[in-house]
Amino acid sequence: MWTLLLLLLPVAAASGWWLAKRDDKRRTRSGFEFSSHYFKGLNYLLNEQPDKAIEVFIRMVEVDSETVETHLALGSLFRRRGEVERAIRIHQNLIARPTLSLQQRSQALLELGQDYLRAGLLDRAESLFQELIERNEHVGNALHLLLDIYQQEKDWRQAIASAKKLQTLFGEDTRGMVAQYYCELAEQALAGADDRQAEQYLRQALDTDENSVRASLIEADMARRAGDYKAALRALERVEQQDSDFLPEIIEPLRDCYSRLGREADMVDYLRRLSSQHKNISLMLALADALRRQYGDAQAEDFITAQLRNRPSVRGLDHLIEVKLSHADAEVRDNLLILKDLTSQLMCNKPLYSCTQCGFAGKALHWQCPSCKRWNTIKPLQGVEGD
Ligand SMILES: [Zn+2]
Repeated sequence: MWTLLLLLLPVAAASGWWLAKRDDKRRTRSGFEFSSHYFKGLNYLLNEQPDKAIEVFIRMVEVDSETVETHLALGSLFRRRGEVERAIRIHQNLIARPTLSLQQRSQALLELGQDYLRAGLLDRAESLFQELIERNEHVGNALHLLLDIYQQEKDWRQAIASAKKLQTLFGEDTRGMVAQYYCELAEQALAGADDRQAEQYLRQALDTDENSVRASLIEADMARRAGDYKAALRALERVEQQDSDFLPEIIEPLRDCYSRLGREADMVDYLRRLSSQHKNISLMLALADALRRQYGDAQAEDFITAQLRNRPSVRGLDHLIEVKLSHADAEVRDNLLILKDLTSQLMCNKPLYSCTQCGFAGKALHWQCPSCKRWNTIKPLQGVEGD
């Protein structure tokens, strides 16, 4: 309760300052009433009786419609504290006042919509935000809040419409987000075994954002399932231009495609080129694996050892031990196993992905950060430590 009180004090001070600015006659008439009610309300808050305090504040609106700002502040404070029902009561009461100016009413509607959103009453929140957009009030805020609702409901078509409006009306770059929504739609279509529809969504994703790695990965998956490994390779090879940070994601499907096409030697060449242009331990290890399969253990060992000298990494070391283990005699093998145990332990608690915006880290790739809810901010880690 103390936090709420402390937060309200500036509101009280600001109201006092504002009252002082009014002409003398009005100040004596309405200013006195304002403060007596106000402090009565504060007193209830102080005594941890928020419902009685709300009664007082609600009566205040009847006395003086210019205390609306205080109500708005109080309502949003209750919401931020998680006391959503109280926030809703305050804002609903405000909206019911016939004396409210248009601007105050739309502000109260925006607040009430956010209360509903917080309370999980998504339908009610949605219709309030749509009303605001129709009336051309708080359009930017309302669109962002609608996006929040549509994402929660996984209503990607509506999300696309709102995000596109944000781009047209306010110049916000929502292309990356919209492409993700199209990818979500493609995944839904795939879940319903509608491959043709999925292809259309993927095309729309790439039309919106040509750097949509996710669209390329889904396209490659679909092509592999259909047995078209050449098409899958074309989709996978796009990722280098789209966002080279995601190259570790293409290694497994790439290996599958090249091996089904019987083109392992081409894979070595491709990985060699990628590895020379992008400093990435996952690529280096994939190349080591390919070398090992193609030319044997000795080649792979030499390659990893040379790489480790340039760029030491636990994962590289772990890999080298694994290659050595395959042809070690019994005594060396015991020692290697101890080392391998150590490197495995060092790696097992390391996150593989992290959010570039909020620092969230985890072992799975999310296209939308579970923590800050932004899209396209999670990347595979590739530092020496991370790998
Ligand atoms: Zn984040």
